[in-house]
Amino acid sequence: MEQSKGRRVIIFPLPFQGHINSMLELANVLHSRGFSITIIHTRFNSLNPSTLNPHFTYHSIPVDFSETEAASRDPKGFLYLLNVRCVEPFRECLVGLLSDDVKLEGPVACLISDTLLHFTRPIAESFKLPRILLDVSCATNFAVLAAFPLLKEKGYLPIQDSRLEEVITELSPIKVKDLPKAPGSDPENYYQLAIQVSNEPKSSYGLILNTFEDLEGHALARIRRHLPNVPIFPIGPFHKCCRTISSSSSLLAQDQSCISWLNTQAPKSVVYVSFGSIIQIEKDQFFEIAWGLANSNQPFLWVVRPGLVNGLDWLEALPNGFLEALNGRAYIVKWAPQKEVLAHLAVGAFWTHNGWNSTMESICEGVPMICTPGYIEQMLIARNVSDVWKVGLQLEHGIERGEVERTIRRLMVEKEGEEIKERSLKLMEKANRCLKEGGSSYQYWDGLAKHILSL
Ligand code: UDP
Repeated sequence: MEQSKGRRVIIFPLPFQGHINSMLELANVLHSRGFSITIIHTRFNSLNPSTLNPHFTYHSIPVDFSETEAASRDPKGFLYLLNVRCVEPFRECLVGLLSDDVKLEGPVACLISDTLLHFTRPIAESFKLPRILLDVSCATNFAVLAAFPLLKEKGYLPIQDSRLEEVITELSPIKVKDLPKAPGSDPENYYQLAIQVSNEPKSSYGLILNTFEDLEGHALARIRRHLPNVPIFPIGPFHKCCRTISSSSSLLAQDQSCISWLNTQAPKSVVYVSFGSIIQIEKDQFFEIAWGLANSNQPFLWVVRPGLVNGLDWLEALPNGFLEALNGRAYIVKWAPQKEVLAHLAVGAFWTHNGWNSTMESICEGVPMICTPGYIEQMLIARNVSDVWKVGLQLEHGIERGEVERTIRRLMVEKEGEEIKERSLKLMEKANRCLKEGGSSYQYWDGLAKHILSL
């Protein structure tokens, strides 16, 4: 820790909620280990330093997107634009940060950037600045992306509708339908993106992952075979590593009133429902969710983010009196303090889209999941939840009110649910153990700190 004093790490998150949360949690832990932290962030989805760690230095760079561009449902197209627009502002910002005046604040040890921000490579190289990458998704996703050439050779790619239910022998229990993909993205383009992302760390000084050995040991072994010369640091779960700092990287205001409502509910009775910060659903799915929840007879806390439902502002399409008829059994907010919600005694299940942060947050609180993955890597995560860790159930055939109701019952009141809850608690213990002295993530944290000091 003493050695780290004065060494500065420059951090550049991808400007989306899930990516920002992981990167800032990583920054908090590095800071607690004595490193000075400088955050560079875009004006698009800009951070609010007043709600963040006051010991960091923040630099905003003038990178903007129009509303239409920001609402794009083509991740590859958006990433392309981001990687083009950031180049000059990021370079100029680094010139300032690396100038002699700023050096007095502490010599810069390295840059940590998101694996998807590949434009940072030539810039970091031109400044002779070592670059470490953070991949904010699960190790399984990275390992599967690295296996794309093999999957193409074996005929699993491009994905054929007739083979969707087939288990991929080489990656069992992953099915063809679980393979990462983006809506509206041309399969060949997505293939190229996968190759680029999975090879990006080869030109870096290390790859950090928000996972732990006991959770994704097989996938981590695959990654090590794919990147034999790159140091790999599986140091998750990030958000449990640093308990001392209270800061919020939430881009939306978190409605704390739901905690008071949770305080009035019986232990382990509430189904918490949230599909994260990006996914959009259609109106018919919105109604199936609403009626499935209402018919389940369980209390529920539902995050309906403005913009969640395509074509709706918020709740205006719910039938008049829908909530009143539930007699206080339901609570709806626009955005919740999710980690606090999942840690609340009243919460018994999490119906999630399986974003990696949400999944890790659920695992860490021992909350069993109902999974409706949306896109990219979420199908892989849901497969791990339901078939590998067996800490949740998947709605395999889309969202239909009858199946929603049955799945909630299976999880909340039937024997099957009891077993899932027991396994969830055991997995939570493993997550806690890996961070304690001698645990795998604890050791990798030490390794990462030493590695940064050696650069
Ligand atoms: N989140 C939150 N309040 C909500 C819903 C989500 O604070 O009402 C946070 C959640 O704790 C997680 C992040 O937003 O850290 C979502 O990230 P994730 O990777 O799960 O999904 P994404 O939004 O990237 O699809």
